[in-house]
Amino acid sequence: MKLSEILSSANKPLFSCEFFPPKTDKGEENLWNCLRELQAVNPAYVSVTYGAGGTTQDRTKGIVTRIKDETGLSPVAHLTCVGATKEQLGELLADYQAAGIQNILALRGDAPEGMDRFEAVAGGFSHATDLIAFLREQGDFSIACATYPEGHPESKGGVRDDIRYLKMKQDNGADCAITQYFFDNEAFFRFRDSCDAAGITMPIIPGIMPIGNFDQIVRFSSMCGATIPAWLHEQMSPISDNPDAVAGLGIELAVKQCAELLENGAPGLHIYTLNKSAASIAIHERIRGYL
Ligand code: FAD
Repeated sequence: MKLSEILSSANKPLFSCEFFPPKTDKGEENLWNCLRELQAVNPAYVSVTYGAGGTTQDRTKGIVTRIKDETGLSPVAHLTCVGATKEQLGELLADYQAAGIQNILALRGDAPEGMDRFEAVAGGFSHATDLIAFLREQGDFSIACATYPEGHPESKGGVRDDIRYLKMKQDNGADCAITQYFFDNEAFFRFRDSCDAAGITMPIIPGIMPIGNFDQIVRFSSMCGATIPAWLHEQMSPISDNPDAVAGLGIELAVKQCAELLENGAPGLHIYTLNKSAASIAIHERIRGYL
C-alpha cells in the first residue's frame, strides 16, 4: 500500500519498523526471522536502508520486493544520491515501479568510506530536496524524507536550516518525514512546534532507537548528531558491560519515551530495529493501548 494512503487513512498513531540489508547468508536468515516475528505486531509499513555509498542497491531492492511479494507488509525502500547519476537513479526507479514498489525514503546519504564529506557525482544530486523533486517527476511514488530534531551535523545554521530544508522537501513532494533518533522528547516537541510555525503540515514521525548496546549507541550518536543526555549516561554507564541489564533498561526507557510522544500527539513511531525483533515487540506490547 502507498505510504500516502497509509498516512491519510490512519485514525491512530502508526507503528513502523526499519531494517538494514545484511551482508551474509546468516544475516539474511536472521532478517527474515525478524520480519516474520514482527508480522505479529502488523507494522503499518517497514523500511529497508540503502547502504553507505549506495553499496546495497541490489540487496535493498531484493529485500523490499520480497517483503511486498511474500509478507503482505508495505515496504519503503531507502534511496540515496551517493555515487549515482540522474540516469542511474532513473533506471533504479523504473525497476522499482516495474516491481510494484511504491514507497521511497529519499535521502542525500553520507560520504562514502575514505571521503570526509559528501560530494555529488557529475550528473547527480547534491541534496535530498533535489532527489525528491526528481522522484515526483519519475512516477507515482509516495515519498518519505529524513529530518533531525537536534540538527543535522553539517547544518551551519543548526535546526533552523533543517526546518527550512524540511519545508522545501514538503514543497518538492514529500508525504512525511521520519526523524533521526533522539532521547530528549523536549527537543522533538520544540522542533515540531517550529515546523508547525514554518508551515510544515506533513506528519513528522519520531525515530526511536531502543538501546541494546550502550557503547554502540554512544559511537553512533557522535556521528549522527544525536545527543546522549546526562541522565541517560548516568543510568546506562554503570551497567554498560551487562548486555541483559542494558537491553532491559533500553526497553523501559523506550516505552516511557514512546508513551510520552504518543500522549503528546506524535503521529506514529518508527523503530530502528537493527534487525532484532525482541525490543520492538516488547515496546509494542507495552504501548499498544495508544495504537
Ligand atoms: P539533506 O536533506 O540533503 O541534508 C544534508 C545537509 O544539507 C544538511 O546539513 C541540510 O541542512 C543541508 N541541506 C538540505 N537541503 C539543502 C539544500 N537544498 N540546499 C543546501 N543545503 C541543504 N543514510 C544512508 O546512507 N542510507 C539510509 O538508508 C539512511 N536512512 C536514513 C533514515 C532516516 C530516517 C534518517 C534520519 C537518516 C538516514 N540516513 C541514511 C542518514 C542520512 O543519509 C544522513 O543523515 C545524511 O547525512 C543526510 O541525508 P538527508 O537526506 O537528511 O540530506
